[in-house]
Amino acid sequence: QHAKKNRLDQQIYTQQIDGNTLERLQLINELKSAIDNGELVLFYQPKLDLKLKKVTHVEALVRWQHPDRGMIPPDLFIPIAEQMGQMNALTHWVINESLEQYLKWKSQDIELCIAINISAENLKDEGFCQYVLDLVTHKGVPIDVLTLEITEDAVVSDPENAIKQLTVLKKSGLKLSIDDYGTGYSSLAQLKQLPVDELKIDKSFVQNLMVNQDDRIIVNSTLQLAHNLGLSVVAEGIEDEGALNWLIERGCELGQGFYLSRPLDADKITDWLVSSPY
Ligand code: C2E
Ligand code: MG
Ligand code: MG
Ligand code: MG
Repeated sequence: QHAKKNRLDQQIYTQQIDGNTLERLQLINELKSAIDNGELVLFYQPKLDLKLKKVTHVEALVRWQHPDRGMIPPDLFIPIAEQMGQMNALTHWVINESLEQYLKWKSQDIELCIAINISAENLKDEGFCQYVLDLVTHKGVPIDVLTLEITEDAVVSDPENAIKQLTVLKKSGLKLSIDDYGTGYSSLAQLKQLPVDELKIDKSFVQNLMVNQDDRIIVNSTLQLAHNLGLSVVAEGIEDEGALNWLIERGCELGQGFYLSRPLDADKITDWLVSSPY
């Protein structure tokens, strides 16, 4: 009863993993070997350039294909990985895997930039920046292909260190994005110090754009604020054509959401990229 079928006909694990339940303890144990056992998979969700009407980026989103429990979504195991000191191993795997996929697409004449999510734990690791830069060089991938998405919370816990690390990455030519913008607690004063290129407006403000006037006011003001600061904006959570057109009219640079495509595995997203009008 802990798994349900989703549209893609995959088992999705939906059990809440709170407290020290036996299940949670089992998952903690299993997560350690999941990476080595090849149980993690990357799904990819397109980001549409709203001016060019062309997919220019994909965001890599990790899932855990558990041998018994089915597909476990990241919200259920990323917090565990963070608590268990597994986040660096996980993020290293995600960057490696997504750069491999970038090279594969490139060999098929599909040119895409890749966005990956990093967590507060990654920024606490002093060697993180260098690891990323060395890996990109080693694989011969142009550095500006990579966007790192960071939530406000990852910065709030230790702003000084975060700013230091992010500045090194930014100077090397990597793109930086503030994820889930509007849901965290960072002040504008802190945001101003971050060397970011992009704000990614949280889906909670975008999903109901067409029916919620407050959301339209918030998104409109965010677009103006970001543009006045010289930042570009990604809207995530576009679920209908109305929201897409509304954002295009207001000069939002990139859009992402189920209306365009859900996150899909590498094969399925490749098919989608080849056959979509974008
Ligand atoms: P996120 O980075 O904000 O990613 C966007 C999430 O919103 C994804 O959920 C995506 O499937 C979902 N989404 C996109 N468009 C829509 C839409 O139109 N409607 C709705 N309802 N949802 C939409 P997902 O894949 O379950 O990922 C959840 C979160 O897990 C991510 O949020 C991110 O914070 C975290 N995550 C995923 N992969 C990684 C990873 O490799 N590393 C780290 N550190 N975190 C990750
Ligand atoms: Mg993200
Ligand atoms: Mg987000
Ligand atoms: Mg999110």
